[in-house]
Amino acid sequence: MKVTVVGTGCTWVTRNNTSFILDDKMLFDIPSGNYKEIIKSIDIFNLSAVFISHLHSDHFGDFYVIASRYIREMKKLGRTEKLRVYGLKGLDEYVINLNKMIFCAEDETSMELLKGCIEFIEVEDGSEFIESGYKVKAYRMTHGKMECYGYSFTDEKGKTISFTADTCICDAVDNMLSVSDVSFVDVASVDDNIRHHISYNQFLGLMKKFPNCKMYPVHTNYASQKIIEENNTNPLFDGIVLNV
Ligand SMILES: [Zn+2]
Ligand SMILES: [Zn+2]
Repeated sequence: MKVTVVGTGCTWVTRNNTSFILDDKMLFDIPSGNYKEIIKSIDIFNLSAVFISHLHSDHFGDFYVIASRYIREMKKLGRTEKLRVYGLKGLDEYVINLNKMIFCAEDETSMELLKGCIEFIEVEDGSEFIESGYKVKAYRMTHGKMECYGYSFTDEKGKTISFTADTCICDAVDNMLSVSDVSFVDVASVDDNIRHHISYNQFLGLMKKFPNCKMYPVHTNYASQKIIEENNTNPLFDGIVLNV
């Protein structure tokens, strides 16, 4: 499985917001500011699917650009297959409202136009799908009041890679890591009292608890990235391509 690391940061740092491209065809999160970075690696009309963790802008903020390009150009470019977008219930309405706000133009934003090029697939905790040859499972994480999903992807050889998205320590994280060979884990802080995210020390605890899973810390702030690099705790950087 090829993983292109588009970004490793959280909202407040100069690194790109955390997102990944799998095998040049599936995108995990489309954060604000990342669209320009993504199109350096892939043609977005070659994507088969986008997985949305939740609606905070550092995970979803540039989705309107993809929606707009598909509405305007998909047919012109000869693509007939709809882009599949996995995410929480009501995502389609949310995209319509967001695009209305951003473009101030009704003709760009009708549900009919949107659904002509994008298929929205609702997920809930434990949902399973087959996408691009992978068995995909959604896990409902604990991220304050936000409905937030992590996803695992299992290939035909049984290898599983996963992304926690934003979450604090919870059963869903344990359940996901217990079946993963490789995982990208939210380590947003060094503060052990952090709410809604995982701290560096809590991440070390997860590495100990699930030694069979190689974990990469992502969604890091300046402090957590610094300690990760100083201790060589599988640090990641924007633009790295991993073969896992
Ligand atoms: Zn969030
Ligand atoms: Zn976030």
